[in-house]
Amino acid sequence: MVIRRPFGYTGVDVPVIGQGTWKVEGAREGELRAIAALRTGLDLGLTHIDTAEMYGSGRAEKIVREALGERRGEVFLVSKVLPTNATFDGTLRACERSLKRLGCDYLDLYLLHWESRYPITETMRAMEKLIDDGRIRFAGVSNFDLDQVKAAQAALRHHRLAANQVLYHLRERGIERRLIPYCRQEEIAVVGYSPFGHSDFPRPNSPGGKVLLRVAERHGRTVRQVILNFLTRLPQLFTIPKSAVPDHTRENAGGAGWSLTEEDLAAIDHAFPPPDHDTPLAMW
Ligand code: NDP
Repeated sequence: MVIRRPFGYTGVDVPVIGQGTWKVEGAREGELRAIAALRTGLDLGLTHIDTAEMYGSGRAEKIVREALGERRGEVFLVSKVLPTNATFDGTLRACERSLKRLGCDYLDLYLLHWESRYPITETMRAMEKLIDDGRIRFAGVSNFDLDQVKAAQAALRHHRLAANQVLYHLRERGIERRLIPYCRQEEIAVVGYSPFGHSDFPRPNSPGGKVLLRVAERHGRTVRQVILNFLTRLPQLFTIPKSAVPDHTRENAGGAGWSLTEEDLAAIDHAFPPPDHDTPLAMW
């Protein structure tokens, strides 16, 4: 079983490895495989499911609904409001639409997908109303850099910011400098997306790929499992790989529940060094 840890200040135990759903929609055969993969993940404890109204213009949420069936209660379910909908009323309406597509009556976490042109105070006020009305349990943001996180926190009047979902993979480690330490101090969960760089996965024959392979062989694991383990090595980190293939999901589930050694961490740091200066938050 995948290990779980408290999700920021909420204290809710959430698996460190979850499941993304970007691009699960398409030809029906592929969708059915994605549904099977999501269910395989649930069986293995990958019960943090990340979706968004944006994904397939709502189609991904409907696929999640199919995958969940009667299993809603097992899941930490996350969706996101598009910035273009993030007025006060727009956020409330977008949440209702997501709930309808997902076939459930509450979300565990609702995120502003990325910064909107509407005032953050307005969006966060809507988030607080959704919490008070029982439509979401917790509120968060996505693709927010340090100052934006602080603004979101300041915009919340009687609830706390639960999470920031941001790009985090071996070639994008900029968040380790300031964002991760700040979120740790503030008990904000950091959910790293695109752990495999979306389509930028290190090639096995590249110098970095060879380092990862050696680490993987030392542990009897795969390179992807090493990557997922590395990306969740700190106490407030979570990761949400997407896989629409059951065997891939099984492999990803093996990324947690064991530990990299100091020697492994040093080798990975050397092959994929974090930046030595502050960089703007990377997206996608
Ligand atoms: P990932 O880094 O998770 O990579 C997904 C790709 O890796 C897919 O092509 C998948 O193929 C493949 N893959 C996954 N596991 C394996 C495996 N074990 N073996 C071989 N191939 C594998 O990319 P995403 O960009 O999808 O990020 C993950 C999730 O993060 C998204 O789905 C979404 O939920 C979230 N996200 C959030 C964003 C935001 O702005 N907040 C932005 C981007 C993503 P296959 O399906 O065939 O298994």
